[in-house]
Amino acid sequence: MWFQTYCNVRIKDKEFEPYISSSDIQSTIQKIADQINTDYSGKSVIFVGVLNGAFMFAGDLLKNIDFNCEISFIKVASYEGTSSSGKVHELIGLVNDIKDKHVIILEDIVDTGLTLNKIFSMINHDEPASLEVASLLYKPEAFQGKHSPKYVGFEIPKKFIVGYGLDYLEEGRNTKDIYELKDK
Ligand code: 5GP
Repeated sequence: MWFQTYCNVRIKDKEFEPYISSSDIQSTIQKIADQINTDYSGKSVIFVGVLNGAFMFAGDLLKNIDFNCEISFIKVASYEGTSSSGKVHELIGLVNDIKDKHVIILEDIVDTGLTLNKIFSMINHDEPASLEVASLLYKPEAFQGKHSPKYVGFEIPKKFIVGYGLDYLEEGRNTKDIYELKDK
């Protein structure tokens, strides 16, 4: 649970207050890793982290994966400030050979699901053995996509959050904890 010693943070013109603590994040990631270790043991697996937001989640999750695997990254962008632009741009594609491998996409957060729609069409084109998603955070009320994440750390309401990889106007990614936008 959250301890009140964590303070609000200010990023550019907005103030954010504590929402999910580092210790809760780490214990949740351990549970996701345990599930993946059970489900994928003995399989040929490639994890694909979605930059920029998933870099911390990918790093901490992979430390707890106990089978040999590949890890790669792709980069897409859709958010402008505190809301989705509705258009998803591929900035860096996948270079690895994924044919007949089990692909697990690592997302920081699934909101509308439009980013996942785009990523699924990019990756399915290369004929993986299977394709699933692990997302640290998921906003089910905002979701309107075709592919919901199989592994979810925290289901959260429709609110704007930063920290632990998530940004506001490219700042705020470098915190251990997650913060929510403070109501005025
Ligand atoms: P979707 O395409 O599912 O709407 O959005 C996915 C991407 O939007 C995430 O990978 C993330 O970059 C960004 N995003 C969605 N919700 C939030 C949020 O609450 N805070 C931040 N900082 N980014 C978000």
